[in-house]
Amino acid sequence: MIRAKKSLGQNFLIDDKVLKQIVNCVAIENKTILEIGPGTGNLTKYILNKKPKHFTVIEKDNDLANKLKERFKENLNIINNDILNVDERSLFKEKVIVFGNLPYNISTEILSKWIINLKNDFWFENLVLMFQKEVADRIIANYNNSNYGRLSILANWKLIIKKICDIKPNSFLPKPKIDSSLLFFTPRKDFYKINDPKNLEKITRVFFSNRRKMIKKPFNQIFNGDPRILEKLNVDLNLRPQNLNFETYYKLTEEYENLRS
Ligand code: SAH
Repeated sequence: MIRAKKSLGQNFLIDDKVLKQIVNCVAIENKTILEIGPGTGNLTKYILNKKPKHFTVIEKDNDLANKLKERFKENLNIINNDILNVDERSLFKEKVIVFGNLPYNISTEILSKWIINLKNDFWFENLVLMFQKEVADRIIANYNNSNYGRLSILANWKLIIKKICDIKPNSFLPKPKIDSSLLFFTPRKDFYKINDPKNLEKITRVFFSNRRKMIKKPFNQIFNGDPRILEKLNVDLNLRPQNLNFETYYKLTEEYENLRS
């Protein structure tokens, strides 16, 4: 019997309906697959049944990695490491489909890291990742929505995002306290050419420092009240940060980079 380790966010998926839904959201046969945090291998089993061409899993827990080696003797490349320490690009020759039900804080960290590092070389075809529902709602939020903010703007910059389903605590063992959501990501072929993603993070940090207030103060702080930028981007300073659409934030970042170059 395997004891779940809280420190590694171990909540194992035990719901066959949900497991089926996960492997059915994208074609797996003959593809290169990476699963992060496979745990006891419940999802791994379903993925293997779909006959991928190459299948690698990355599991941090030594005990679980050993168990996986016993359970799946063939057809599976098991890496016993922390996903945050792995250079995932160097592992594959072909584009990858990534599945992950990781601890929630790590899902968000890894997603941000992958977005920031994603160039036009698209090392992945799709990401299928589990998040705490509340965080998923922030990732998929559109403008004029109270969940819209820094995470939505960062994620939408390079990815097309779809929600596959919400998942109740009952589908896991041990049961988490909160609801989860499964998101499906596809890289955008075209995205705004921001030279340094830190500038997008800076713009959104300053603009969203006070969501209830009009954007006059953050705008002036960054652009010194430059009327040309207001006119060019058609920005109304009486709006609140959540009222500016995605494009406006990417364009504001481009302008910011132009000013500093
Ligand atoms: N995907 C499995 C297990 C989910 S629990 C399922 O759905 O049943 C989360 C898993 O991620 C655990 O196996 C945990 O050991 C692993 N994990 C936690 N942090 C990790 C990290 N930084 N890198 C790789 N795996 C990690």
